[in-house]
Amino acid sequence: MLRYFAMNILISADDIQRRVRSLAQEIHDDHPNGVHLVCVLKGAFVFLADLARQLPGVATLDFLAVSSYGTSTQSSGQVQVLKDLDAGLEGRDVIIVEDIVDTGLTLHYLQDILRARAPRTLQTACLLSKPSKRKIDIKVEYVGFTIEDKFVVGYGLDYAEQYRNLPYIAVIGD
Ligand code: 5GP
Repeated sequence: MLRYFAMNILISADDIQRRVRSLAQEIHDDHPNGVHLVCVLKGAFVFLADLARQLPGVATLDFLAVSSYGTSTQSSGQVQVLKDLDAGLEGRDVIIVEDIVDTGLTLHYLQDILRARAPRTLQTACLLSKPSKRKIDIKVEYVGFTIEDKFVVGYGLDYAEQYRNLPYIAVIGD
């Protein structure tokens, strides 16, 4: 049975769109010859779609699916690749596009396995960052918003597969 929670909007749709536009410009300024965007499914699909459409230059896309949380709100620290990339990364300017960095364990794992595929450069863009929960020091070159340690949904992020379609970021509560 579906449960419904009260939603408190943390970041409005307009604020997200403005920030994504400026991140896209930053990425373009750093990579005027184009980038290869690697979207981490499922959570980053909305961020990827908006970011890619705001990028003024050349962009190619690929998708990778990982599971790290299941349906709970606690990080397990276990990362499983459910779907790998379709193409190699050798010699490419790769940007990992991720929804949120929390403990950092997922991104640390992904950066390691993608670096081993010999991209020319490897950077990371995250819409959200929760630095207070970090368990491992990782580099994220492009961060949309830094937020407090709250479980958020919307704009691609789910709770038990719900709420990914919300155009804003919200905190759920009973
Ligand atoms: P980390 O490995 O950094 O702890 O967690 C990264 C992954 O955990 C994210 O890609 C995301 O799937 C999930 N996650 C972390 N914090 C949140 C949150 O506040 N809301 C949702 N929906 N997922 C989260």
